[in-house]
Amino acid sequence: MSVSPGPAVANDVPRVNRRSLLVGALGALGVGAVGALGVAKAGAANAAVTGVARPTIASCGTWGAQPATGTVSMTGPPQKILVHHTASANTTDYSQAAAYALARNIQQWHFARGWIDSGQQFTVSRGGYTMEGRHRSIEGLGSGSSTVFPLGAHCTGQNSTSIGIENEGTYTTALPTSAQWTALVDLCAYLCQAYALGPEDIYGHRDFLDTECPGNALYARLPQLRSDVAARLGTSNPPPAPTRSWPTLQQGSSGFRVSTAQYLLRHSGRSLTVDGSFGPGTKTAVVSFQQAKGLGADGVIGRATWEAPLAATCSQGQASDAVRGVQTCLNSKGYAVTVDGVFGSGTASAVKSFQTAHSLDADAVVGPNTWAKLLA
Ligand SMILES: [Zn+2]
Repeated sequence: MSVSPGPAVANDVPRVNRRSLLVGALGALGVGAVGALGVAKAGAANAAVTGVARPTIASCGTWGAQPATGTVSMTGPPQKILVHHTASANTTDYSQAAAYALARNIQQWHFARGWIDSGQQFTVSRGGYTMEGRHRSIEGLGSGSSTVFPLGAHCTGQNSTSIGIENEGTYTTALPTSAQWTALVDLCAYLCQAYALGPEDIYGHRDFLDTECPGNALYARLPQLRSDVAARLGTSNPPPAPTRSWPTLQQGSSGFRVSTAQYLLRHSGRSLTVDGSFGPGTKTAVVSFQQAKGLGADGVIGRATWEAPLAATCSQGQASDAVRGVQTCLNSKGYAVTVDGVFGSGTASAVKSFQTAHSLDADAVVGPNTWAKLLA
């Protein structure tokens, strides 16, 4: 499963909130119901959006779940949907029986981790069956306009603000089946409608943790997922997907970005000299990293490689070469920190200050959004 607990990671997303902007703008226009945009404020009495029918979701009782071993509490409202892959076999048994067996297996795997129930709220099988994961997930949907969902366990740091969907399969190079894709689009669209989220609130697990999940191939399809969900919601102009710009580094490049990449390559287990000069040794290390991640091994560091992720998430308390990379970037931006690889209070305070200056949540966690700004 790709839902292992990792380092504690808090929000690493731009602080500007889409919903408050949207609601504010509509309020200024005197627009009450926002059905035309396919986005309704949850709980609004006159919420006009009823366009996406609830997909068939097999309940825990239907697929034969065991009772949760602890109290499943409700939380909310969710701010985002996180897409996962199960990292299990790409089965060609597309039957309902296989789907239900998968759901039972996931629950057992998660019990074995000491969790009280399945970690994710929903599961989509390769045959296109959608199932409740954690108990009370269907209950959380209420009548289709809701603010609560059961607190799950699928992404450390994001569980109280995100709904997790496990997609059966391993999508490092393969893609979901068409039945699975359709079911995923339907489920995401319905969740967006029920919880007043937008297509741009759909993310991959790796956007928040140092993990390969949901696989390079499925992750690369998330812009398509947002677009397909927007179409199902009837949003004529889907909002832009979250984008980050990353520098391209290749043989001949030099400077603090290359030093940082070299530290990050060392962090990934490659041995090379950190000299700020992208020579043949660095290229060899990049190719090795790309091969290990199932990427095209061209030795050029671009978005896919940064997000594979070469740019590993860092937070206070860690000591690593990745932290040296963070400190190298901070120095290049004028923050005087010692490049000692120890993420202590001085580095944390410099990161917070940098995040504030770049409209990021000042949580001192260096995730993908902060990395991209540090490397800009
Ligand atoms: Zn995951």
